[in-house]
Order: sequence, then structure tokens, then C-alpha cells
Amino acid sequence: MTRPLKIFCDFDGTITRVDGCNLIIDHCIGRDARCAIDDKIVSGEYSFRQGYDAQFAGVRLSWAEAQPLLHRQNGIDPTFPAFVRWVEGKNIPFMVLSAGVAQIIREYLATVGLAKLDIRANQIRIENRRWRVDYFDDTPFGNDKAAAVREAAGEGFRTVFIGDGISDFPVASVADILFAKRGDRLAAHCASQGIDFHPFDNFEEVLAVLRLEIGD
Ligand SMILES: [Mg+2]
Repeated sequence: MTRPLKIFCDFDGTITRVDGCNLIIDHCIGRDARCAIDDKIVSGEYSFRQGYDAQFAGVRLSWAEAQPLLHRQNGIDPTFPAFVRWVEGKNIPFMVLSAGVAQIIREYLATVGLAKLDIRANQIRIENRRWRVDYFDDTPFGNDKAAAVREAAGEGFRTVFIGDGISDFPVASVADILFAKRGDRLAAHCASQGIDFHPFDNFEEVLAVLRLEIGD
């Protein structure tokens, strides 16, 4: 018998084109300062966590002040809700797996009625308008996506991962079925490493491939 599917999906860049963390950080420290720290992450001078901590160190906002900023833009892929309805209709377990911030992800998902989705991500702690990231684990991105996928494989699932960026690289060689957003860093990484993947632009394409996989 074929193993049942379990689907893991990145959030920023994959489900949404708007990065909520960047919106908050840019509002407080400015885009140039945020990008200068991003450059240090890319060059290896900072680890992802050091860079993330440095960016959030400049944030001074209550959650109530942050919410309207987040809602100025909402880049949720319009094909995503229908995809989730299909997944739920087939009783396929689904988890949002992100190196971002769970509260921000939930805030965005709530706008399309999907606040109840299972999310494994880092958490933010706000005290006196100061933001601190509580990481999910001690690994470089604060949330080891490959570990979550390996765990599911160990439980007997055929694993699916859908992503786009650098924090998804460790999962690429682990997932049984891999989707990488067309033209982004994960797709380039897989192509250069000879890792098989399905390129996609939206969740209709992901759905079409998975329907064939399970003979739906
Ligand atoms: Mg991403």
C-alpha cells in the first residue's frame, strides 16, 4: 500500500509574497538598515539568528500597533485557500513550517479564514513594545524544517514539501515530493545540486501534481 501523504509548506515567499517580519522591521529601523543586516547574513558574517535578532532589536511596537501595519498589504496566494480545502477534504495532514514568526503567520492566515492551520515556527515575545524572538529549537534557522519532515517519514508518511528560499535548502534532499517556487533560490539550489523538484507559481499547479500522485 502506498504511504499516506503529509504536506509541509513554507510561509513567506511561498503562501504569501508579503514578508510580515520585514514590514514590521522596516517600519522601525528602515529598509536600508534591515537590508544591511540581510547582507551580513548572506555573506556569512552573521548567522540567520544573529541577523534576525539584530533586526528585531530595533523594533518598538505593541502588537496592537503592529496589526494595522501588517494589514496594509496582504500577499496571500489567492489559490491557497482552495488548495487547503482539497487537502482537508482528503484528510491529508498539513503543517505550515516556517523560520518566520508564528503570530504574524496566523494574523495573515486569519484574513482567509485559515487561522486554525497547524503552524510550526518561531514565536515573538513582546514586552514594553520590545520584541524578542523565541526560537523553536537551537538550529541555525531556529526551526529545523528537515527534522520535522524526517520525523513524519519515520512515522510512515510520504512527505511533501513546498517552499521557495534559503531556509528550505536543508529539506530539499529529505522530502519525498518537493515543490520549489519557479525562479527563486530553492529552485536554483535544487537545479545546481541535481535534486528533483516540481517548479510552481501557484497552488493550482501543486494541486494538479498531488492529485496525480494520489490518483484523485
Ligand atoms: Mg520562504
